[in-house]
Amino acid sequence: METTIESLVKFGCEIEKQAKLSSYTTFRLGGPCQYLIKCALPHQLEKTVAVLQNRKLNFYVIGEGANLLVSDDGIDCVIIRYLSTEALIQSDENDLTVSGATLLDHLVSYAAEQGLFGLNDLSGIPGTVGGAIVGNAGAFGKQIGDVIKSVVVINRHGEKRIISADELGFKYRNSRFKETGEVVVSVIFTLHQGNHKELLLERNQILATRKDKHPYYLAQPTAGSFFRNVSPTSSAQKQQAAGWYLEQVNAKDFSCGGAYVYEKHANIIVCRETCRAQDVYDLAQMMSEAVKTRFGIELTREVRYLGRFKGMPEGITSIIW
Ligand SMILES: Cc1cc2nc3c(=O)[nH]c(=O)nc-3n(C[C@H](O)[C@H](O)[C@H](O)COP(=O)(O)OP(=O)(O)OC[C@H]3O[C@@H](n4cnc5c(N)ncnc54)[C@H](O)[C@@H]3O)c2cc1C
Repeated sequence: METTIESLVKFGCEIEKQAKLSSYTTFRLGGPCQYLIKCALPHQLEKTVAVLQNRKLNFYVIGEGANLLVSDDGIDCVIIRYLSTEALIQSDENDLTVSGATLLDHLVSYAAEQGLFGLNDLSGIPGTVGGAIVGNAGAFGKQIGDVIKSVVVINRHGEKRIISADELGFKYRNSRFKETGEVVVSVIFTLHQGNHKELLLERNQILATRKDKHPYYLAQPTAGSFFRNVSPTSSAQKQQAAGWYLEQVNAKDFSCGGAYVYEKHANIIVCRETCRAQDVYDLAQMMSEAVKTRFGIELTREVRYLGRFKGMPEGITSIIW
């Protein structure tokens, strides 16, 4: 087998050397990586992982970059971007088999149109199915992990295996994948029969609510909620939302360089054109310190850091933090 990165082109992968990650994250921030390899299909992902493992090259998989803050200096590794603008979905009664590259909202829309119930609350969440599984994305007290039957992964030794739902370690905005670094290739969801008209109506209402409360990320760069809720339950009370604590410390008035807190939501950071990733890092520090000083509570980040930032605590060795 040919093992050069360039050889992946013949499988349909696109390769960009020294790609700037600002073009591949919803914050629109981040410096270069060694190579960015774009894979849209499962076999392209598998070949790419095999080549990189064969060459012992360190890599990191991203989806739409909707939950990432990449450092201005970039990162010294290969990035695999696993994303497809075409929905890759096969249905078998209530089961849907979906590639991890599929955009989550394409899947949610497909399920609603088919009258399948279980994913509708996730309407409008940016990112891919793979990214959503890693962070157990959710809204309105529902999470993607609630309706997963199994996931096909490639582990760090290049072995492909099927992992069933009970082994996936889903918790609030968490899963085993944050620890294992396994790559999500595809997934089977088990949904329930519902009424497609009702589902589509509800979906439109959710999209309208999100439009009202969240910045439109293609125009106002952001990664959504920056911190996790403090004591999450499926029916999170206002006092438990990180945004509530941030409101109390007047975070909506905070800014740092080109980064500022969204006027409608104290837990969302948005960027002006001049923004650097370091500005977002510094603003997030300012927000969490204010909550710590006032309430003695340590906020936990939802957004993942990639690369090095000035002011990072001593002893951080991983590029993912
Ligand atoms: C405007 C806005 C609103 C948002 N609202 C919500 C919300 O309501 N609820 C919510 O939960 N989140 C929300 N988010 C955050 C974001 O949409 C989710 O975290 C999303 O699931 C990230 O998917 P992604 O493909 O962009 O992942 P990325 O940001 O690219 O990656 C996130 C993590 O997943 C890993 N990853 C990605 N793909 C794979 C794969 N195939 N295999 C293994 N690892 C992988 C990455 O390594 C990284 O650790 C919002 C973001 C924005 C911008």
